[in-house]
Amino acid sequence: MKVESFLEIARGYRAVFFDSYGVLRVGDHVLPGVAGALAALEAAGIPYWVLTNDASRDRAGVAAAFNGLIPTERFVSSGQMLVEFLQREPPPGLLAYLGPARAEPLLALAGCPFRPLRDLETLDGVAAIALMDEEGFDWERELNRVVNYARAHPELRIYVPNPDLVYPTEAGVGLAAGALAALLEAVLGTAPLAFGKPAAPIFHHSLELARAELGELSPSEVLMVGDTLTTDVRGGQAVGLATALVLSGNTTPEALQDQIAASGLRPDHLCSEVRA
Ligand SMILES: [Mg+2]
Repeated sequence: MKVESFLEIARGYRAVFFDSYGVLRVGDHVLPGVAGALAALEAAGIPYWVLTNDASRDRAGVAAAFNGLIPTERFVSSGQMLVEFLQREPPPGLLAYLGPARAEPLLALAGCPFRPLRDLETLDGVAAIALMDEEGFDWERELNRVVNYARAHPELRIYVPNPDLVYPTEAGVGLAAGALAALLEAVLGTAPLAFGKPAAPIFHHSLELARAELGELSPSEVLMVGDTLTTDVRGGQAVGLATALVLSGNTTPEALQDQIAASGLRPDHLCSEVRA
């Protein structure tokens, strides 16, 4: 595939959706070309939103990591999608969560009663489980409790805001919450409800935000820019967005052809990085 300039591609669309990690930032720093590219989009009258699978913070928390470069209202997080879902469809009983205590301010926004699963002696009365993160709990103990409770209570709802299977580490990758959700799915036979990419809710919500600003808008008039074929490109294509893969994160230039062949996913555009 031909490598194109980000800005030349973006000028062909009415709005841009960005993935965050590997596209706008790597680790704790914003990539060098990003500020210039965002300013150029603004000058061209092309609004943008940042769609992140971050599930442990609300969008103000996600925005804070960009030090004011991107306004809070431009972020859509998978954690926020879960909160809005719980506000519409509160569980008919207690929500127990798996994950670190830093997920609590986000869950509190949902307005339903919740407790960390590790603090519950028994799961009696639990109507829903939220798998908020892979950290902060003993996988073996708590997942066994969930499996046994779910077998006796098939109506139990299980949510996984961030369906990512792995996250990058110095050694390569670590298993993420989505991998634990896949394990539960294999054992219980039903898939936990996912909210982040590649699941559709985060894309549909972002399209609503774009339509509120631009009026009528076809998904094909929006460019989804991501570094991961199986989340950004797969999820974007599934809802009809145009897609651009950048080579500044998960997908390296060396691995590109193999990953396209293995996934069967081909983005509409390829660019090395987000810059003006
Ligand atoms: Mg990414």
